[in-house]
Amino acid sequence: MSHPILFIDRDGTLIEEPDDQQVDAISKFRLVAGVIPALLRLRDAGYRFVMVTNQDGLGRDGYPQRAFDEVQRLLLGILESQGIVFDEVLVCPHRGDEGCSCRKPGIGLVAHRLIRLDWDRARSAVVGDRQSDLDLATNMGIAGFRIGRELSWQEVAKALLDSPRTARITRKTKETSIEVAVNLDPSGEPIAAIATGLGFFDHMLEQIGRHGGIDLRIQVEGDLHIDDHHTIEDTGIALGAALRSAIGDKRGIGRFGFYLPMDDASARVALDLSGRSFSRFDGTFTRDKVGDLSTEMVAHFFRSVAEGLQANLHIIIDGENNHHLVEVAFKGFGRCLRDAVRRSDPSGAIPSTKGVL
Ligand SMILES: [Mg+2]
Ligand SMILES: [Zn+2]
Repeated sequence: MSHPILFIDRDGTLIEEPDDQQVDAISKFRLVAGVIPALLRLRDAGYRFVMVTNQDGLGRDGYPQRAFDEVQRLLLGILESQGIVFDEVLVCPHRGDEGCSCRKPGIGLVAHRLIRLDWDRARSAVVGDRQSDLDLATNMGIAGFRIGRELSWQEVAKALLDSPRTARITRKTKETSIEVAVNLDPSGEPIAAIATGLGFFDHMLEQIGRHGGIDLRIQVEGDLHIDDHHTIEDTGIALGAALRSAIGDKRGIGRFGFYLPMDDASARVALDLSGRSFSRFDGTFTRDKVGDLSTEMVAHFFRSVAEGLQANLHIIIDGENNHHLVEVAFKGFGRCLRDAVRRSDPSGAIPSTKGVL
């Protein structure tokens, strides 16, 4: 699987930069606050590290190679003793007036990385303490973070690992036009804004959002003049696909089941984000419709969700009242989803022995 890379500046980022801007003696050596715990968190989440540093005039008078090597060895040794290793250390030894292509923000040092396809650009970033580091990030087409007064290492790790998981899906066919937006990590109370043209269905989808603890926005224009079939089926597929996209690579999430009672009715729901679609729905309704929703479409909806989500979904419902039966299935699915997508494992491990789901 493709891994994200952190391209990390050295002076001012890993170690403090002295006033004369040259860390050429061990007496000037100080690690930047919080760098080790942040890099360990990122390492555990699958990040690889590459050091990219400008060392003005290295190897010339005033900055002998030996002075650089001494500090560099100490730095790499300390980090390595804590389990932090660099895949590569890339150094530009030139001065600004030499017109080289490797001095940041030039991309000469990282050009061989840019042409490779085995890393995950969307999650990769440059971390540095200067504008030239941010410019390097721009030139590489990846995110950039500037360590310093505004941003600590802890905040960089948080931004890279704990950012909200969101997705927006637009799906247009002859029968329906659907827009679904989800946010699995809402900052406050989850927001539900749902308009499918079917009042009871809206109410049920709200249950998924509320009980799933996720922001859910769904707009549907369907061929309701025919019946509710396409609207419900296509909403299920689009919702599943949006959830799947927001979940991303499934780091730190689980697989779950939930047993939920609601007055006379109860639901057993089991969900495994396995990457394979399978759905089972056991339950009988004694009415054809609840509100404007055909009860035969309930099983069909969940099958469509499982398909879009590429998940294994089992729902077994029991009870008397048809409104309760439908509602308990949607609520149970929401509760299951909440547990399944929660980032419960701080190491960000993928919950499978195969390392991929
Ligand atoms: Mg620097
Ligand atoms: Zn250079």
